[in-house]
Amino acid sequence: MIDTMSLGEFDLIEQYFWRPVGAGPHRAVVGNGDDCAVIAPAPGMQLAISTDTMVEGRHFLSTVDPARLGHKALAVNLSDLAACGAKPLAFTLALTLPRVEASWLSAFSKGLLALADEHDCELIGGDTTAGPLTIGITVLGEVPSGGALLRSGAQVGDDIWISGTPGEARLALEAFRGTLHPGLDARTFEAVRAAMECPTPRVALGQGLRGVATSAIDVSDGLLGDLGHVLRRSRVGASLALDALPVSPYLQDRARDLQLDCILAGGDDYELIFTSPASQRETMHQLEQQLGLMLTRVGRIEAEPGLRLWQGEQAVPNRWVSFDHFKGAA
Ligand code: ADP
Ligand code: MG
Repeated sequence: MIDTMSLGEFDLIEQYFWRPVGAGPHRAVVGNGDDCAVIAPAPGMQLAISTDTMVEGRHFLSTVDPARLGHKALAVNLSDLAACGAKPLAFTLALTLPRVEASWLSAFSKGLLALADEHDCELIGGDTTAGPLTIGITVLGEVPSGGALLRSGAQVGDDIWISGTPGEARLALEAFRGTLHPGLDARTFEAVRAAMECPTPRVALGQGLRGVATSAIDVSDGLLGDLGHVLRRSRVGASLALDALPVSPYLQDRARDLQLDCILAGGDDYELIFTSPASQRETMHQLEQQLGLMLTRVGRIEAEPGLRLWQGEQAVPNRWVSFDHFKGAA
């Protein structure tokens, strides 16, 4: 085993984060190791760019498996590209490390680069510094010019859709906090823990929604809060049918209040919420088959501002507040 305690900044970068030329699709004209990476967007395409940072103690526990942490750090960024309908191209990594630890770096870079390879998304540069463990990633993707999905496009009368089964990451968090009675059996715990620590960005869905969805957003802070962003940016309101919400098999046996808390305000789901006209329902069924991913119609865009929740014909007060880093959760 290499004694990485003696590794300097540059050796560390080279050993764990650079790939041999020819290993990837190489959309970068100049890649890792120069002062700048240089990217050539394909003709007729625009770049979609997004940054997400993860801080130890804030976004993850110090005990998390470093391979999963590497995966998640990139996954949350790819999820932003997915929400815009963009195809991943490349990313940069700003890594702040408290110390150089070979086993940690090796696992972290494996988890990170495995997901990068899955999406042909090349690591083209970054920055490495000493300090409290923080992972900042900037991801670049491409979309046909003018074709990016935005938060602002929802139209009155559109259906509201959600992918997958949101709420599992929150169930895992509650299991870690010890608030579940009864607790989770080992199999369920492992499954929801994987949902929290190893989310799957809905990259193919996002691209499939181009020209089909009128607006989209990924669920990072909670379904209601993130849908709220779409409503405000689109200057519309909505009604949501609580009994239409998809319930994860892992939440099936839980009290309805906990189900709703997890699904509506759980956060860390990285599913997509999107809107589309009713004329696109058949397309949604085709996408569902094609991707093997459940898509559920949960509501409707309305002209009246605000979000109304319904249980059948009964109005339900909105008691959920989504996460805010400076206000916390209610
Ligand atoms: P500069 O002195 O110009 O800031 P650095 O010394 O920070 O450059 O980085 C040297 C090279 O290594 C650059 O090409 C940079 O993009 C790359 N690099 C630095 N840190 C990382 C990292 N964590 N992952 C990938 N590439 C990195
Ligand atoms: Mg630098």
